[in-house]
Amino acid sequence: MNATTTVQAANIVAALLFVLSLAGLSQHRTSRSGIVFGVSGMTLALGVAAWAAAHDISAAATTAVVLAIVIGAVIGLRRARTVEMTGIPELIAILHSFVGLAAVLIGWNSYHAVEAQDGTQHEVAADLVEVHHAEVSIGIFIGAVTFTGSLVAYLKLSARIKSRPLTLPGKNLINLGALAAMAILTGWFIASPSLGLIIAVTAVALALGWHLVASIGGGDMPVVVSMLNSYSGWAAAAAGFLLDNDLLIVTGALVGSSGAYLSYIMCQAMNRSFLSVIAGGFGIQASGSGETKQGEHREITAEETAERLANADSVIITPGYGMAVAQAQHPVAELTRTLRERGTDVRFGVHPVAGRLPGHMNVLLAEARVPYDVVQEMDEINDHFSGTSVVLVIGANDTVNPAAAEDPGSPIAGMPVLRVWEADDVIVFKRSMATGYAGVQNPLFFRDNSQMLFGDAKQKVEEILQALRANTSHTRRVTSTTPALV
Ligand code: NDP
Repeated sequence: MNATTTVQAANIVAALLFVLSLAGLSQHRTSRSGIVFGVSGMTLALGVAAWAAAHDISAAATTAVVLAIVIGAVIGLRRARTVEMTGIPELIAILHSFVGLAAVLIGWNSYHAVEAQDGTQHEVAADLVEVHHAEVSIGIFIGAVTFTGSLVAYLKLSARIKSRPLTLPGKNLINLGALAAMAILTGWFIASPSLGLIIAVTAVALALGWHLVASIGGGDMPVVVSMLNSYSGWAAAAAGFLLDNDLLIVTGALVGSSGAYLSYIMCQAMNRSFLSVIAGGFGIQASGSGETKQGEHREITAEETAERLANADSVIITPGYGMAVAQAQHPVAELTRTLRERGTDVRFGVHPVAGRLPGHMNVLLAEARVPYDVVQEMDEINDHFSGTSVVLVIGANDTVNPAAAEDPGSPIAGMPVLRVWEADDVIVFKRSMATGYAGVQNPLFFRDNSQMLFGDAKQKVEEILQALRANTSHTRRVTSTTPALV
């Protein structure tokens, strides 16, 4: 087997491992094997790429490639070990920006290797030169949009800039104008490539990526993150065409299409139009920020909450981002066990965008060993709130906001939410009356059947557990003394 055949065979195996990885990652139970397949595929791909490069390039260049891989791997391993669960979305966003930047650099490099030469010194066949011009322009365009779009997403997710949407006058026209400019510049570049045109393509795409994501409101960021995931895949595929690397094309297409499908599912979950997402700034049709206070709230203590739970037949827990911040999943799982042992029916209602990344709550609950069969998705649980004795809203806010269902003027109007307010009693765990990620006031807090339990969610759940145990031992004492009394 010669070197080319070995590389092709290894690439096919790596591509199959990536497909198996995606299949594994689609379910909790198989996700670990999905990661093992993905890591194996990537190790094989990198190893073969370095081995093939060693055949084609000088020893010094090979050393540089291996050094780059090692440095990247050390930084990646360190970041993965130290990142908090709540910091993963912003880490993903910044990693997407690297893919975009890499695609831009590959495009520029390819331009210097082909278009900037005098026409005879490059390796592209004469009848494919125009295809190459198109690949350079489109690759740089997708990469640059991904780069700045992901940077803005990173800044918003890490709260370094406000998550409120930027509303420039005529923003849709700006986006359409940028797309039209891009089409014209690409046509022009194909006809007569020049440095000026490639600078213009890069500048327009960088500005468009920034504007697209800056125009999108906080509540719609989950869709943006999965959309940028998709863009990063297409950027990698574009780089694959430029580098003539089949594996990069296949991998990029897998990431691009799975990211697009995830965006589509999330759009459905949030009742948004997929096309509007791609067009950017789709979450801002409503007027006002919705931050005004809407009445008086009532407070409840941990001991009173424990008493209500002790008397409840059924309890639904709806966790949100605050549970992740407080790392309250372990005491929450303990509370679930305690209540179930007392004969209370306990279930979880998980909103598809609760937390800061898809599946965030499921991961935390699985980590705390909450049984899968009591964890239900929004559509399964929504008809069961009515008739439930107590709902514990633990660090959730936007995902339980009735304004989304009842106020057409709300910035999150139309987003499906958990209808917690239909239960007999709703207890909301949070530290203050602050708004959630979307920056929208929540009328739930002022309803007659709602009570606020202020404080860190973990601490409050632990206090409830203590009070419940005291209540249980009291009940046991009464029970155990009953025969003596009789
Ligand atoms: P929200 O962000 O709406 O609200 C979280 C609440 O938790 C806050 O109101 C905060 O109130 C409270 N909180 C924070 N820390 C603590 C703590 N230590 N103890 C108790 N409470 C705490 O959360 P949801 O999960 O309901 O909604 C998710 C939001 O994030 C949606 O708007 C969604 O669109 C967006 N998003 C989701 C992504 C995803 O993929 N899932 C990605 C990006 C954005 P206080 O400060 O008063 O304590």
